Amino acid sequence: MGALADSALVWFRRDLRDTDHAALHHALKSHRRVFCAFVFDTAILDELADRGDRRLSFIHGSIEELNRALRRRGGALIVRHGDAREEIPRLALELGVAAVHANADYEPFALRRDDAVSGALGALGIAFRAWKDQLIFEKDEILSGAGKPYSVFTPYSRAWLKELKAADLEARPVEGLPGTLAAPPSLPAIPSLAALGFTKSPVLLPCGISGARQLWADFQNRIADYARTRDFPALKGVSYLSAHLRFGTLSIRELVRFAAGQKNEGAETWLKELIWREFYQQILWHRPEIETLSFKPEFDAIEWESGAQANDHFAAWCAGRTGYPLVDAAMRQLAASGWMHNRLRMIVASFLTKDLGLHWLRGERFFAAQLLDFDLASNNGGWQWAASTGCDAQPWFRIFNPIAQSQKFDPEGNFIRRYVPELAGVPAPQIHAPWLMSPQQMAATGCVIGHNYPAPVVDHAAARARTLTRFEQLRRAD
Ligand code: FAD
Repeated sequence: MGALADSALVWFRRDLRDTDHAALHHALKSHRRVFCAFVFDTAILDELADRGDRRLSFIHGSIEELNRALRRRGGALIVRHGDAREEIPRLALELGVAAVHANADYEPFALRRDDAVSGALGALGIAFRAWKDQLIFEKDEILSGAGKPYSVFTPYSRAWLKELKAADLEARPVEGLPGTLAAPPSLPAIPSLAALGFTKSPVLLPCGISGARQLWADFQNRIADYARTRDFPALKGVSYLSAHLRFGTLSIRELVRFAAGQKNEGAETWLKELIWREFYQQILWHRPEIETLSFKPEFDAIEWESGAQANDHFAAWCAGRTGYPLVDAAMRQLAASGWMHNRLRMIVASFLTKDLGLHWLRGERFFAAQLLDFDLASNNGGWQWAASTGCDAQPWFRIFNPIAQSQKFDPEGNFIRRYVPELAGVPAPQIHAPWLMSPQQMAATGCVIGHNYPAPVVDHAAARARTLTRFEQLRRAD
């Protein structure tokens, strides 16, 4: 190994932990002193309409914990508030570092930002290195035999599993390396949420490194049951780790190592979900234009509903007042917690695009603003799947029936009752389509449709027929 360069800066973004961390590992391997920084980036914060955005509370709590963890290791987190494209080069210059290390972020905005930072650093004679950390396989590491990106999940997943080697899952340790963590002699306190222009919001999920470890330890005990329970929102069947994967409070290598080492159906199914995450990441990396356009360009010609009624329908969907109990319960879960169960995400996305006939981007943008785990690649992938405009999507003629989905995945109505108290007295057989109750039943159950719970905003059978026509017209226009 060559001589150690003097010092480096590690720029934390969506990797808010101090263990098994590629950028920290590489920086400590090749530099004597390593500083750490996080920027509350105004280019992102200024775009957030909600000053009580839960993500800020989650990130703020997580970086406070990261700072404590780094201090225990002899370092500290330098926290800046400003445009990262200016703050990082300025800080690098102030600290006199030879290089800035970060973990790669593949979203189009992040790639543009990192290009700008890399250019500004380059002009100062400072190197910029972006390491793979968020994914097991990034960019074009998994290609078909013909050298093309996969657009169908099953062959991608097969190739991904075939490519997987023990070395891909090895931790990137931060101990036992030549460099040491360093802190500037005087360091201002981490700015408060108020100083950043935000208010604190309750986050139901435990946050930070300790929150991630708590959820992960709990899920390891349940993983064997995942395949059996994951589709039922009333059950505790899933891991609840998505926000932690989004903000990198735990390492994907650790999760895959554990899941791949378990020989049961639950762990195998869960590993597939982690592979879906990578599948959508590579799709977005290869096709960044899908941020706003259909993966299959022919679907951009679809004439989605617009006008006053469409806007009313959209407002009812956002508020959880469509009159379809499971759809409403799901939207209220999102409003209450910033998270929604995967089965429900599929159901409400299908309802928005196929029952209300609204452009998937309207729903996608609403989720982007609400979800604690919002991740452009997975969210876009999920929406385009439901809208049938995406890669490996639900075929357009297969349309979820929101009543049948409710009967199947919340048979007792327990999830519905948790989030739609208006329906608390409605028994299981009626709860999935309460408008079908007789006036006597409505009176007896305390739920009078049109009075204390809305009538359905659309009739599913009629909406389904309209959607089939909408897609068929497109086919005829070909
Ligand atoms: P688990 O079931 O425990 O799965 C473990 C992890 O696998 C998740 O944390 C996630 O990282 C990954 N994963 C699971 N399912 C998928 C999937 N279908 N696609 C990609 N990755 C997956 N996931 C997000 O992380 N961010 C989003 O913004 C997002 N938006 C979605 C929008 C729609 C319309 C749909 C249908 C799905 C979306 N998903 C999104 C995928 C999925 O719903 C969530 O990852 C999951 O519900 C998170 O809960 P969990 O961590 O308990 O999941």
